[in-house]
Order: sequence, then C-alpha cells, then structure tokens
Amino acid sequence: MSALEQLSPSLLWKHFAAICEIPHPSRHEEAIRQYVVDFAEQRGLEYEIDETGNIVVRKPATPGMEDRPGVVLQGHLDMVPQADENVEHDFLKDPIRPQIKGEWLTATGTTLGADNGIGMAAGLAVLEADDLVHGPVEVLLTVNEEAGMVGAQGLQGGWLKGDILMNLDTEAEGELYVGCAGGIFIRGEASFETEAVPAGYITRTVKLSGLKGGHSGCDIHLYRGNAIRLLTRTLKSLEGFNLRVASLRGGSVANAIPRLATAVVAFPEAQLEAVEAHIDQYFTVLSNEYSVADEGLKLELLEGETAEVMAMAEQRRWLDTLHAFPNGVLRMSDSVEGVVETSVNLGVAKIMDKSVTIETTPRSLIDSACEDVRRTVHGLLNLAGAEVSERDGYPGWKPSVESPIRDVMQGVHKELFGKEADIKVIHAGLECGLLGSKYPQWDMISCGPTIQFPHSPSEQVHIESVSRFWDLVKGTLAAIPAK
Ligand SMILES: [Zn+2]
Repeated sequence: MSALEQLSPSLLWKHFAAICEIPHPSRHEEAIRQYVVDFAEQRGLEYEIDETGNIVVRKPATPGMEDRPGVVLQGHLDMVPQADENVEHDFLKDPIRPQIKGEWLTATGTTLGADNGIGMAAGLAVLEADDLVHGPVEVLLTVNEEAGMVGAQGLQGGWLKGDILMNLDTEAEGELYVGCAGGIFIRGEASFETEAVPAGYITRTVKLSGLKGGHSGCDIHLYRGNAIRLLTRTLKSLEGFNLRVASLRGGSVANAIPRLATAVVAFPEAQLEAVEAHIDQYFTVLSNEYSVADEGLKLELLEGETAEVMAMAEQRRWLDTLHAFPNGVLRMSDSVEGVVETSVNLGVAKIMDKSVTIETTPRSLIDSACEDVRRTVHGLLNLAGAEVSERDGYPGWKPSVESPIRDVMQGVHKELFGKEADIKVIHAGLECGLLGSKYPQWDMISCGPTIQFPHSPSEQVHIESVSRFWDLVKGTLAAIPAK
C-alpha cells in the first residue's frame, strides 16, 4: 500500500488506499461508512447519518472565510463489483489490490472503485487538510448509487446546509459537467401460446452478431446497430417464406445497446435454399446501412432445434411490437449543441418458454420529454397486451443559463492549466438530477479525474489527473466569492 501513499496528493491517496482495503460493493456500504464515522470522530468533526444510510460530515470555514456560501462535496460510497472470469474474488471480504501501471492505477483482476473512491477520498482529504482555504464544507457520501441511486432517491430536503453542490463523480479531466439526462427502466411482460412445428418444416437459428453495442445513454448518438431491431427486421423480411418463430433473445441489460440477438425459427424444408439466399442478400442490405457504425455486423443461418413455435397471431403481434419499438436518438438538444436531448434504447427482448420480457430505458435532459417517451412505450406495450412495470426513475439535470460555480471553476481551471475546461452535458444519469430535485436552490457542477473503463475489470484512473483534479477542487473552494 505504501506505493500509493508516495503518490501526490498524499492525503487523498492515503484515503483511497484505505478505501481499497474495505469491501464496499453496492448494497454493502456499512463498513466503508464506519471508516468515515471513525475518521470524523478522530478529527472531532460533526457528522450525521440519515435513514437511507447516507452520511454527511461537516467542517467549518477556515478563518476569514465564514461569509462564503457553503459547499457540498458529494460522491457515492459504493462501487461496482466486477471480476475477470478467471479471477476468484469475494467482494464482501477481499480487498481491492491496486497496482501502478505506468501513468495509470488499476486493480488486480477486478474493478478498482476509482468510481467513486477517488471522489470520496478527495472529500475526506478536504476534511482532513489543514492548509486549505474554504467556506463551510459538507462532504455528502450517498449509498448505492450504482444499483438504482438509492441514496440520492432517499435524501431528504433541508438536511444539508450548503448552497453549492460539487459532485465528484464524472470521469474526464478537463471537462466540467453542468447537466445530465434523467431516465427510467421500463419492463413489459406477457405470456404467449405455442403450437407444434408444422409438418414438413425444418428448424434453424438466425443469429445477428458482431455489433459494437455500448452504453445506452453515452453511446446512443453513435447510431450503432441494435441487434434486437436488426434481427426483428430480418425476421419480418422472411415472412414471405412462411417463417415461424419459436423464440427470440437479444440483449442482456436494459442500459446497454444489444450486440447480439438470436431467433430459433422454422420454415418449409422446400424453402431452405431460398431462405439461405435471402439471408445472404439481407446481410448485404444491413451491412450497407451499417458499414461505418458497425463494420463487424454478421448475419448467419445456423442449426437450431425446436418442437414448438409461437401461435401465428402471437408471432405477428410480438414481431410487430419489436419492430415498432422506439429506439435510438429521438431529439438533439436545442440549447447545448451536439448533445442528445432525448433517446430510448430497446435493451432486452426475451421471447421464449411461453413468456415475453421486453426492457427499455428512455432518457432525456428534459423531464417532460422523458415522460412523453415513457407514455409512448407504455402505450405500445399496452397494445401488445403486456403487463408494464417500472423502476429506478430519476429526474434530469437541465443545464442552467446562469451558474456562478461554473464560472468560478472555469476561471480556476484556466489559471491552473492555461486553458478552459469543456463545459459538458452527459446523456446518462448522475445523482445531481435527484439531488437537485430535493435542493432546487443549489448551484451544481460535476468534475473528476480521468477514469477509463469504469464498471469493468479494466477500470483505471490516470494518476496525474488525480493531482490536477485535487488542485481544481482546492482552488475552486478558495476562489468562491462571498455571498
Ligand atoms: Zn460513480
């Protein structure tokens, strides 16, 4: 661990090293919160824990800074637990083992938890440092951000005293975030009737693969192929061959663009050659459309087996539903150039074993626009006869025209690094949307060091960017003018 403590700024890295030692996957934040409690008690700092499990630690203004607005430095306590396939790691017991690889810090076969351990460590370092200049500071650490923003959902208004929120959970040095999309997970479920494969039919699997996929929000503007939609299109194009569908599966999670989809199908044996030729020809059609966005696209007809297929009316209904599903970018922002305002991703479709599951995630910078897509999806699923359920809805953070904290931080950035930061809006969820809905008076901003491949065992944080991130936070705290 001493290797980490030799890095600069040492206070921040000392806390990050300690955080790595304490298991803290989502939903298991007790131990890491206790670390914060012990720290606050040792330093004689006031702290409170709310009913949801969020903790706030307060530090008074440094001498002469009492008239400054209060700042809430915010991060989340939990990390995403992901290990490489060949690595045995018990995220409830085993420590994360960080290692320095050139300019980067990474873990050993697991996620590192730099998301959001570095943000948390920065907050603790501000609380501990005695050489900073700042107004009243509150460090707010929320529980379970990664699996539903549970802490932010449960946060009560009126609990925090600050006027400015500095979220420390974005992942690119040189970028300041001033807005984010809201979103919701929607699921439709239904059952369907089957019948025996008609006599004289053979069975095959149609497989659509090789797509790039990506994050359903952050990558939606790249217009990559959606495997469920492209497979559905292919199946629709085969209807003239008396195609019968037994099952269709695509995507694994609602918030990723599906890369792979397969369908087990049946058709008259006499049509085999014609179907093979059609698949080849349809592959050319799709590759022509996706030659740039998804040059790895593959469409194959493989062996497949089934005794039953969907009843014909059910097949029509579900293929039409998937085909009609809204998907992709729906509108670009009018106020922030080049940023997606509203989108939706058809993330999961499972039509098999007599049951249908469809999952999707609408997102928007504007809550009413997200609500409109939500109703569209409800309407379509209702028409198809599905039961609709929802979870994890969170509001967006609409960029405000005036933001004193943005201007202060931009000024400090320019002074420290000789250039302006990019002012950005992210088409994915940040806790700021929810937090801001509880504290509408807050002036909010989000920043962080450079973290690559978060939520995967390849997660790594750029070491030098952490020290510049620290300088930016420290410089901003000192530069905030009196109220
Ligand atoms: Zn995070």
